[in-house]
Amino acid sequence: MSRDPAAEQLNCYKETVKTVPILLTGNGEPIANKNDSLTAGKYGPTLLQDFVYLDEMSHFNRERIPERVVHAKGAGAFGYFEVTHDITKYTKAKLFSAILKRTPIAVRFSQVGGERGSADTVRDPRGFAVKFYTEEGVWDLVGNNTPIFFIKDPLLFPSFIHTQKRNPVTNLKDSDMFWDFLSLRPESTHQVMFLFSDRGIPDGYRYMHGFGSHTFKLVNAKDEIVYCKFHYKTDQGIRNLPVDRAAELSGTDPDYGIRDLYNSIARRQCPSWTLYIQVMTPKEAETFRWNIFDVTKVWPHKDFPLIPVGKIILDKNPESYFSDVEQIAFNVAHMVSGIEPTPDKMLQGRMFAYGDAHRYRLGTNHLQLPVNCPYKIMTTMNYQRDGKMSINSQGGAPNYYPNSFKGPVETPNVKEPAFNITGQADRYTPINEDDFGQVTIFWRNVLDSGAKTRLVNNLVTSLKRVSPFIVQRAVANFTQVDQDLGKRLRDGLKKVGMQLFTLEDEKN
Ligand code: NDP
Repeated sequence: MSRDPAAEQLNCYKETVKTVPILLTGNGEPIANKNDSLTAGKYGPTLLQDFVYLDEMSHFNRERIPERVVHAKGAGAFGYFEVTHDITKYTKAKLFSAILKRTPIAVRFSQVGGERGSADTVRDPRGFAVKFYTEEGVWDLVGNNTPIFFIKDPLLFPSFIHTQKRNPVTNLKDSDMFWDFLSLRPESTHQVMFLFSDRGIPDGYRYMHGFGSHTFKLVNAKDEIVYCKFHYKTDQGIRNLPVDRAAELSGTDPDYGIRDLYNSIARRQCPSWTLYIQVMTPKEAETFRWNIFDVTKVWPHKDFPLIPVGKIILDKNPESYFSDVEQIAFNVAHMVSGIEPTPDKMLQGRMFAYGDAHRYRLGTNHLQLPVNCPYKIMTTMNYQRDGKMSINSQGGAPNYYPNSFKGPVETPNVKEPAFNITGQADRYTPINEDDFGQVTIFWRNVLDSGAKTRLVNNLVTSLKRVSPFIVQRAVANFTQVDQDLGKRLRDGLKKVGMQLFTLEDEKN
């Protein structure tokens, strides 16, 4: 039977080794015997002075770090971004400064809800995060495979994720929790429809698009701004898994997505994506019919056409899954000059959450790890010092500012242009925001008849396990998308034994 490159990894390693290395303890002492621990007599107890054993075992006991609270299961790869089109009229970010310019990148794809050992072929959004190692520092574009998100206020994020994970009593996934939350937050309907459509189970990671999702701000060399959305569309074409095949793979090959990515790169079938932007001027933003900072909405392509920018190409597998993928730390707040945040509430919330999560998971100095450090710039960079696992001494430079000893100095020309903020501080409940208009367009104009039938079937399969009063509310939301969708769901649920009221029933 022929074996794929992932299965051949150890044989490939063996071929690269000319001289077998000497086995050492963590502090570099050669080890005489790796089979037998040190005991008092042939059958006696093990001695505490057996450092070979203690060194090995104590390291083993600490091999795991906390898994990510979301996006725990994932796959990663390295490659480069190459500029194909000039967008310098929109942004001064140096990575876009010249056609054919290349910037090294790292990418991590992920599932959202499952644990590190969960299956790659479940219905779940996919993370698609890109780290650009630019000469101006690291830019993390921490996207998903959908251009929108379920909620628009980060205050709800922990609750939302709780409902996608395990019930704290039963330790089981809980359909009531899942649908209770989503049906109580109608703004989630747009992404729920994407999730239960064919694209809810991509065929691995190569055959799906990526989106920066949020509205960002681009700033050019004259400090003029436009608003921007990032899209990275697969050059492999969209490919999804049929529900039955996905379920089968969950049992037979739960690491299907990781394996497919690894093998494709090892076989030099290097996957690529085309990066596009949509841009909107501040004047257009004032009159746009939806709130442009609402991450549950897209910008229609015909109003804001996709502008090509460059290619994302993955051509190198990780050398160590742990060092390169488990320890990679993306942070939405990492932007470079020429790319800036906007008032998008979810973006603002994520700009705090990611760095905070990494400080807990990896430690204060996680940005010194090779996979995270801005290696294209000098190592003497700032006045941060010490903390757990610090390895960057910054060459003896002073650790305070200002100073008279040639410590690092400011770069005034990267200052963000001033922007206006007005309004009274309050907790504003979004009212009269259209949660369904774009979903209606999606249902009526984007999905063909087969895709509609599969979407309804997928929703019925999930909803039939849920308490009827929650299903009633969920179906009422879908009916607001389109009467036809509501009717099809009621009919489908009736067939599996769940009778729902219609609005007419309630009136009678
Ligand atoms: P367009 O007709 O110009 O584009 C439709 C978009 O929908 C395309 O990007 C298409 O991707 C994508 N699409 C097709 N099937 C699915 C699916 N099952 N799940 C998710 N996306 C899918 O439309 P508009 O820009 O006017 O938008 C119409 C609606 O399309 C929106 O309301 C939104 O629901 C959806 N959409 C819009 C996007 C945008 O950024 N404007 C992006 C994605 C979806 P592809 O090009 O690969 O076929």
